[in-house]
Amino acid sequence: MAMKTQSEIMNSELGRQSDSSGDGIAVRVQNLTKTYKLYDRSIDRLKESLHPLRRKYHHDFYALKNVSFEIRKGETFGIIGKNGSGKSTLLKIIAGVLTPSEGHLEVRGKVSALLELGIGFNPDLTGRENIYFSGTIMGFSREEMDAKVDDILAFADIGDFINQPVKTYSSGMFVRLAFALATNVDPDILIIDEALSVGDIFFQTKCYKKFDQFQKMGKTILFVTHGLDNVIRYCHRAILLENGVKLIDSDAKSAVDVYKKLVVNCYENGDENEKNGDQNVIDNREADLVRQKCLVNPDATIYGDGRVEIVDYGVFDKNGVPVRLLFNNEPCSVWMKVMFKEEIENPIFAFTMKDLKGMDITGTNS
Ligand code: ADP
Ligand code: MG
Repeated sequence: MAMKTQSEIMNSELGRQSDSSGDGIAVRVQNLTKTYKLYDRSIDRLKESLHPLRRKYHHDFYALKNVSFEIRKGETFGIIGKNGSGKSTLLKIIAGVLTPSEGHLEVRGKVSALLELGIGFNPDLTGRENIYFSGTIMGFSREEMDAKVDDILAFADIGDFINQPVKTYSSGMFVRLAFALATNVDPDILIIDEALSVGDIFFQTKCYKKFDQFQKMGKTILFVTHGLDNVIRYCHRAILLENGVKLIDSDAKSAVDVYKKLVVNCYENGDENEKNGDQNVIDNREADLVRQKCLVNPDATIYGDGRVEIVDYGVFDKNGVPVRLLFNNEPCSVWMKVMFKEEIENPIFAFTMKDLKGMDITGTNS
């Protein structure tokens, strides 16, 4: 997506209240709504502004609808949802670049945000000049930025490009500099919107190390990413947005599970799909046998469009005995019993092994 090349650093004045109430809350969002006026034709906007009786020519589009949640200090908080669900809108409101249409927002502490697009860097200035420029906007003096600039350069690691105009940067270089700056200005609350996916894997690793450090320092992190594994790994909590509405507010793993169902349109009708499956196609006797042999997870999370169904699966040792425990270097086999409800050409069979938190450990496909 081209939008990602335009990562942005910004900082909001809004975040500079201190936590006087001492209730440990870093961000409190209450009944937040963001509407955009949509006009079918551009002329309608003009007509509306000139109409003597203030006739409405627009309809309201809700980018966020009555969203409420609290983020505790020191929490890493994930926001997940499909494209267009309102994630960036929410982050921008919390970062102070967008004003909500309705609702109340409290942000306690200094905010540093790495947003998807927007103003941020001046393309004609060099990377180094932009560091000082952004520093000024954030309220740091030249001397204060002098003290930070080495750390920023070291983290960004873009070599001589730091003395080139930012408009010559690749999206990867851009985000390196933006992330280095955002994390080296000692924020209380760090906001990251999908930026990290632009960087290469080594840089990403470095960024996540920074997350670890921030977490240990008790800083608050707000985080949007499509990397669901990283949501599970780093976020203490997550909310799921769908069409601007908060659907889930829970631990990260549960939110990700629901999101995965949502992506394949099984969230609302998932149970129905299962009921409608043609049970007669399964040889029940055989299914029972496999079931006896396999260690089926009773808490299975099922998603997909159901054209093919993994009826059962199991992990077996080298003698074909089902096992619950595997030792290092011990060969094992994974069996799955799969029912095709229609003809599928070149199917691919895959499995993933996860730990208790739902993080991928290993997996492969055929
Ligand atoms: P996400 O980050 O989850 O992909 P966004 O917060 O960027 O979603 O957008 C939420 C919705 O608001 C989208 O449908 C988007 O098209 C709409 N939207 C965003 N900005 C504007 C705008 N300035 N005018 C009208 N609609 C907008
Ligand atoms: Mg977005």
